Amino acid sequence: MKFSELNIPSNILGAIEKMGYEEMTPVQEAAYPIIAAGHDLCALAETGSGKTAACAIPLIQKVDPELNAIQGLVIVPTRELCIQYVTEIQHIARRTNVVPFAVYGGFDKDIDIAKLKHGVHILVATPGRLLDYLYSGVLSFEHVKCAILDEADELLKVGFLEDIEFILSCIIRKHQTLLFSATMPEDIKKLAHDCLRDPRHISLISERKAPASIDHYFAYHHPNDKMAELVKYLEAEDVKQMLIFCNARHMVDKLFTSFRKDFKDVGYIHAGLSQDKRTSVFRQFKSMKIRYLFASDVAGRGLDFSHVSHVVNWNLPQGRESYTHRTGRTGRMGRKGKALTFITKHELSDLRELIFRNEISPCWIGEDPLQANNTSPGRKTKKRKRPFRPHLGRGKEMAKS
Ligand code: AMP
Repeated sequence: MKFSELNIPSNILGAIEKMGYEEMTPVQEAAYPIIAAGHDLCALAETGSGKTAACAIPLIQKVDPELNAIQGLVIVPTRELCIQYVTEIQHIARRTNVVPFAVYGGFDKDIDIAKLKHGVHILVATPGRLLDYLYSGVLSFEHVKCAILDEADELLKVGFLEDIEFILSCIIRKHQTLLFSATMPEDIKKLAHDCLRDPRHISLISERKAPASIDHYFAYHHPNDKMAELVKYLEAEDVKQMLIFCNARHMVDKLFTSFRKDFKDVGYIHAGLSQDKRTSVFRQFKSMKIRYLFASDVAGRGLDFSHVSHVVNWNLPQGRESYTHRTGRTGRMGRKGKALTFITKHELSDLRELIFRNEISPCWIGEDPLQANNTSPGRKTKKRKRPFRPHLGRGKEMAKS
C-alpha cells in the first residue's frame, strides 16, 4: 500500500515522499490505522522494519501546533536512539509547524531548558534526563495525548522500570500508549500490559526468530587468535561498513587501539565517552566516515545504520535478545547482511542455547565444535564450503598501503 492512499495531509505526505518513502512497510501498514484511531498498541516488529516512521507519521498528525505544549512523548533507552528518533520526526514534520525536540543525558541543560520554554510539541527523551526535568519542574505533561515506549522490553527491565512507571504516572490526562519492540520476553510482556489499556496487537516478527536477511556465521578460536582471524575475515569479505561488538568497554578500547594501527576509518563508542564524542562518532558512522566501529551494547539497539554489511560479535553476547539486537544492525530493510560471532570453549553451552532458541541455522567458518563434540543442538548446521574467498575484497584497505 502507498502512503498516498492514506488520508495524510499534503505537507506530511510531501516530506515522506522527499525521504524516498512511497510504499508503506508492513509495520507501517498495520500500525497506522490503529494509531490514527487512538487505540493503545503493543507492536512486535523487527529492527529496520520502519517502526520509527510508523509511529512518527500519525503522531505528528495528532499534534495541534497552535497549542504550545508537549503533546507527544517518546521514551527510548539510549542517547543515540534519541537522536535518531528525533531526526526522523524532524524530517517528516519539516513542512509543518510541529516542533520535535530531544533531551538526553550529557547534553547542555541550559539549551534544553531554553528550548523547552520556547515550545516543544513532541519530546523524545531518555528516562534519566526526563526524570531530572520532571523532578525540577521544568516539564509539564498536562497536554500529552500520546506516549510511545520504543525498545519497550529494555525500558521495562529492572533498571528502568521504576523510572518509566513514574514518568507515565506524570501524564495525568487520558492518553494513548504505544509500545514498540523487536523482542518481548514473557516476564516483560506482563509489565507491558500493565501500561496499556485495551491494546491492539501487531506481531510482525517472522516465525524464524533470526531475520532471514542475515546469514549467521560462527568461528571457534582461542581468544588470542581472534584478531588474526578477524583480519583474515576482513580480507576475504566485501565490507561496506562493519560493527564489532564487545561485551566490555575496556575490550572496545583495547581492540580499537590495536586495530587502528593497520586499518583506517576506525572508530569506537561506549558509555564511557563524553556525550559530545558519542554523538560525533554516531554521526560519522551514519555518514560513512567511519567504516569499522568497535562498540559496546550502547550501539546494539534500534539504531539504523543502513550501510552496515557486517556485524561481528567479539564475544558471544550476554542474552539471546542482545544477539538479535546486535545482529539486527545489518540486513536492514530487506538488504542482506552477515553476522560473525567468535566463540571460545567456555561459551559453547550458551551458544547451543542461543542457536536453539533463536532458531539460527549456523554456518561455521572452520571447525564446528558442536558437531565435533557430537553435542549439536539438534539443528542441521550448514558448513561453509570455502572458509574465505581467495582474493582480497574492499575490506582490505590497510592504512599502511
Ligand atoms: P527503523 O526501523 O524505523 O529504524 O527504519 C529503518 C530504515 O527504514 C530507516 O533508514 C528509514 O529511513 C527507512 N524507512 C522507513 N520507512 C520506510 C519506507 N516506507 N520506505 C523506505 N524506507 C523506509
